[in-house]
Amino acid sequence: MKNKSIRFQMTFWYAVALIGVAAFLFMAVYWAGSAVLRKTVRDYLISTVETNVDQIQYAASGQAEREGAEANSMSGEILLEYGSGRLRIDDDFMNVVNDVQTALYTSDGTMIYGENPVAKETEAVPFTVSRTWNVRIGKIRYDGYDRKLNLRTPDGSPLWIRGIVAETENVQQMREISGLMLLVLPVLVLLALIAGYFLTGKMLAPIREIEQTAGRISEGSDLGERIDLGPGTDELHRLADVFNSMFDRLSEAFAAEQRFTSDASHELRTPLSVILAQCEVILEEEHTSEEYMQAIRTIRRQGARMNGLINDMLDYTRMEQRAEQYEMTQLDLSGLTAETAESLALLQINGITLEMEIEPGIMINGNRFLLLRLLQNLISNAYRYGKKDGVIEVRLARDHVQNTDVAVLSVKDDGIGIAEEEQSRIFDRFYRSDASRSVQGTGLGLSMVQKIADLHGAEITLESAPGEGSCFSVRFHSSTQDTRDSSHERNA
Ligand code: ADP
Repeated sequence: MKNKSIRFQMTFWYAVALIGVAAFLFMAVYWAGSAVLRKTVRDYLISTVETNVDQIQYAASGQAEREGAEANSMSGEILLEYGSGRLRIDDDFMNVVNDVQTALYTSDGTMIYGENPVAKETEAVPFTVSRTWNVRIGKIRYDGYDRKLNLRTPDGSPLWIRGIVAETENVQQMREISGLMLLVLPVLVLLALIAGYFLTGKMLAPIREIEQTAGRISEGSDLGERIDLGPGTDELHRLADVFNSMFDRLSEAFAAEQRFTSDASHELRTPLSVILAQCEVILEEEHTSEEYMQAIRTIRRQGARMNGLINDMLDYTRMEQRAEQYEMTQLDLSGLTAETAESLALLQINGITLEMEIEPGIMINGNRFLLLRLLQNLISNAYRYGKKDGVIEVRLARDHVQNTDVAVLSVKDDGIGIAEEEQSRIFDRFYRSDASRSVQGTGLGLSMVQKIADLHGAEITLESAPGEGSCFSVRFHSSTQDTRDSSHERNA
């Protein structure tokens, strides 16, 4: 069943449920109908017998006229000799009404008046006081009702009225209703199934659209294609929206991947071309040893550049791939900043002085490895693009913005600065400003800084003017205060 289409499965289970309901309905109607009919028949039987009870009188001898046991045509009464008196039966006494046949009996079981279609067969049924009974004669069921008359007969033995009704007629009706239901219900079930099959097909059409579009996208024919189900907000439309935003992210990631590969190849091609060109030149003819040395130095420089590029690229892609796996813990940003700045200051690059103003005990939720990378990149940039014998200021302070504690880290230099039009681009991968070409670099450091800040929910701002210097600030949220009061404030 699981290999069948959803449309088939839905129609199948729907059919099973529908047939079950129809069968239940049929049985319920049949059972309830029979019960109601039986009760109605019995009610008729009892009320007919009870009505006839009042139509019979007994008169002892000498009390009434002696006109013989024949119909009195004037009054419409019937007079029957009984014992020493007479039974007077009103003409309202109904032998047959509503299919109920009523007869008058003596207590020894002799029928003295009225009708009983199955008199012989019911002879043996004893008279019971005001109770219904039934017998089955052949295929027909008969309901009977006996009623004892409270008449003072001369010998004191009671008289009985027995009503009999055959069920045939009613059962026939019931059979007809059931037959009709047996005919109509399967037709209704069939119609419902056909309608259900088409409706299921119609409702599943969006899923087919999703499946086909996803199939085309996965075959790679058109990454820009999206599922279009038209207007609507039901579950399938929401599913299509989820798919579309997933496709957006996938194609963005794919495009970024392609951009990265082409940027990386482009960046690697330059030093590689220089290396190849140098090799060509020195292999073409004999050179002085000084020229060989010069060529080898160039090759080494370009090789080192390629090495730097490859390392940075590896770090960058590793960080992107593992973005979700970096463990975030509460860590002392003050300590980490001071340690990083101090260790870089030890290198004493370009005679630059590094000044620190670090508020102690600033804790943030972050990843130590990534934050170390961020600090190294920002401070080493300040050294590389800073002024010879200049000053770098590394600051870390608490601030309170819109009811939240923030920690602001800033790295300021007085170096070459960045032109305004380039400030938004320096965070792009491989971008390097014109002014910085003389300094070796890969253009990946700030992209990493940006990515790390994003992973920590931090924002970066830049203030810079060409020739005056730059100040990079990183604003970390949800910093908490540590109780330690040691200060890292000092000059390196
Ligand atoms: P890299 O320094 O390896 O070139 P980055 O991504 O770290 O790569 O920086 C990108 C560019 O931004 C640099 O090439 C440089 O032009 C500019 N830049 C970064 N930091 C500074 C700074 N402190 N002062 C001036 N320019 C900077």
